[in-house]
Order: sequence, then structure tokens, then C-alpha cells
Amino acid sequence: MSGAASFELLILSGVDVKRTLPMPDCIAAVDRAMRAYSQGAADVPLRTIMTLPGGRNFFGVMPGYLGDPRGLGAKILTVYPENAQRGLPSHVGLVVLFDSETGLPLAVMNAAEVTALRTAAASAVATRALARSGAAHLAILGTGEQAMTHLEAISHVRTLQSVRIWGRTFEKAQIFAKEQGSRFGLKVHACQSAEAAVDGADIVCTVTSSREPILRGALLKRGAHVNLVGASRLSTREADDDVVTRSRFFADSRTSARAEAGELRHAMDGGRVGEGHLIGEIGEVLNGVVKGRMADDDITVYKSLGIAAQDLAAAHVIYERACRDGVGTRAPF
Ligand code: NDP
Repeated sequence: MSGAASFELLILSGVDVKRTLPMPDCIAAVDRAMRAYSQGAADVPLRTIMTLPGGRNFFGVMPGYLGDPRGLGAKILTVYPENAQRGLPSHVGLVVLFDSETGLPLAVMNAAEVTALRTAAASAVATRALARSGAAHLAILGTGEQAMTHLEAISHVRTLQSVRIWGRTFEKAQIFAKEQGSRFGLKVHACQSAEAAVDGADIVCTVTSSREPILRGALLKRGAHVNLVGASRLSTREADDDVVTRSRFFADSRTSARAEAGELRHAMDGGRVGEGHLIGEIGEVLNGVVKGRMADDDITVYKSLGIAAQDLAAAHVIYERACRDGVGTRAPF
């Protein structure tokens, strides 16, 4: 358009994202976003997910507006679960941040890193709110990108005495235990079965691409807290009905839970629980609107589906710090 003022777009790589958003700051940003979301200070339409030909890969668009801190934008990403075999991340794409005053695009950033950080940060926020204060034994089911960030994030909200990791490929669990244990100065033990990993755990994170339950409710210790992260479609679930029925059940978003929480839907369809089993959003717990854990032997579940408010909250911090510190590449636009 001739005569229009030119402006610059900031491009932020995965390295830039990690540099500008340390995990504790991401936890703080997501905590604030979840409170705002549950107060109605965010407009987050349900995401659009297209299944690509062949049925194995997905293309998703997650738009949103967040009032506090101010953020407008969208995450556009692909999910190619078999990318690991190519040495590539399974979730790749862009977070695009706009200026909500002028409507101009401000920045594009690496969505794989934003997603890895904000999802684990959201689980940490839920764990801080729902797990027993003395929870010290963590089990992680899954050995991928989310497993790594979850170990880091949970270690920021509880003092961990032991960590057990299980993956369907035992060698990957062993590598994870060795590498991540020394990275975070924690004792991480690789387990041959999910049962062995979950036995006695105070906090369980399920972060796999499994479509069938890998976590059985009968195995959960009384008082445990569970973050269900991996399944994000009604037709898939990582946990069986007993995990749902035994728990006080929370989610990041009521709307997303109704449309996308496979574990809850399966238990409802089987008549094991009713609509009211979903107690509320984690933001409602944080805002004091609904009660989280009521007793030490309650089992609590946080169903994570992921909402754009989390991406925008993270992107806001990343953008502000990148501008302050001169991080990233500016391109005329
Ligand atoms: P990765 O591809 O890095 O890791 C996937 C993990 O799942 C690997 O450990 C893999 O094992 C395991 N896995 C795959 N299929 C099965 C199966 N059938 N049974 C048991 N384990 C299996 O993915 P991410 O860590 O990035 O993501 C993990 C999950 O979390 C995905 O399902 C993803 O869609 C979801 N996710 C959820 C978000 C949310 O906001 N709730 C946000 C981002 C991701 P192996 O390596 O041996 O194949």
C-alpha cells in the first residue's frame, strides 16, 4: 500500500524464547493468565484443529485476546507425532503477537518452545494450587519434550525427593533419567512400567501421545495430584475411568473440557460420573471461587488442554523482554 508507514516485525527463535522466558517467570505469567481467563478477562474461542490426510497429523489455529496482560494473537501450529524419528519436534509453528491498540503484528516466535514452556508452567500452577504441600515424589509418564519441561516446572513448585520416569521405549526413559537428572541436580529413576513409576507418587504427570489409558486410577496413592496433559481430543485419553471417578476434577477451561477432555467424556458416557464432576477451572481455584483440595487424602486431577491465553501471556513477556534486551531479529514489514 503506497504511502503507508512501514514498521518492523520482531522474529524470535526457539533460543530467543528460552533466553527471555525462564521457567519461574513463565509460571508467574501463566498463573496470572489463568486467573484473568476465569474472571472473563480473556476471549479465547475454541481452537480449530484440522486432521490432515492420513489421519496422523494435525494443523491447529488457536486465536485469542487476553486483557491482563494485554495480548492479541494466535498460535498456528502443526502436530506431527512421528517427527521424533526425523529428529524434529512434534509440535512446530508460530505464535503471532499483535498490538491490541493498533492491530499491527508485533512479533512472530517459535511455537514449539512457547508450547513446551507454557504447558509445563500451567501444570506447575495447578500443582502448586492442588497438590499437598509436602508432595515430594514425582512420576512422569512420557519421555518427550513435555516430560523435560514438566520436570523443570514441577521442581519449581514442590521440593522433590524422588522422580520416576516411564516411557514406552525404556531406553529413552534411561537416557532421560541420566541427562535430566544431572541437568536439574535431581535423582531420576527410569522405570520399566507405568505401574512402577506411579507406585507411591504424590504427583503424576501424563505427557504421552497415547490414545489409550496408560494411567490406571487403582494405582493412585490417596492424596495424589495428577496432571493429565497428553490427550487433547474427545476420542483419546491417557487415564482410565477410575482416575476420573476417584478424583476432584479440574481443568484449564470448562469450554475446552466439555469439547476436548477425552477422559471426562469417557467416564460420563459410561455413566460413571455426571456433568457436575468437573468442579471448575484452575483459575477459579486461584481466584477462590471454587475449592481445590478439601482433604489430605483427596486425589486431585488437573486436565490440561491448553488455551491461547497461556500462549499470549508467555508471548507478552517474551516480547517485552526481547525489546528491552535487544533479542531477536527485526525485519521490515
Ligand atoms: P513428544 O513427541 O516429544 O513425546 C511424545 C511421548 O509420547 C514420547 O515419550 C512417546 O514415546 C510417547 N508416546 C507416543 N505414543 C505413545 C503410546 N501409544 N503409548 C505410550 N507412549 C506414547 O511430544 P510432547 O512431549 O511435545 O507432547 C506430549 C503430549 O502432550 C502430546 O500428546 C501432545 O499433543 C500433548 N500436548 C498437550 C498440550 C496441552 O496444552 N495440554 C500442549 C502440548 C502438547 P516414544 O518416544 O517412545 O515414541
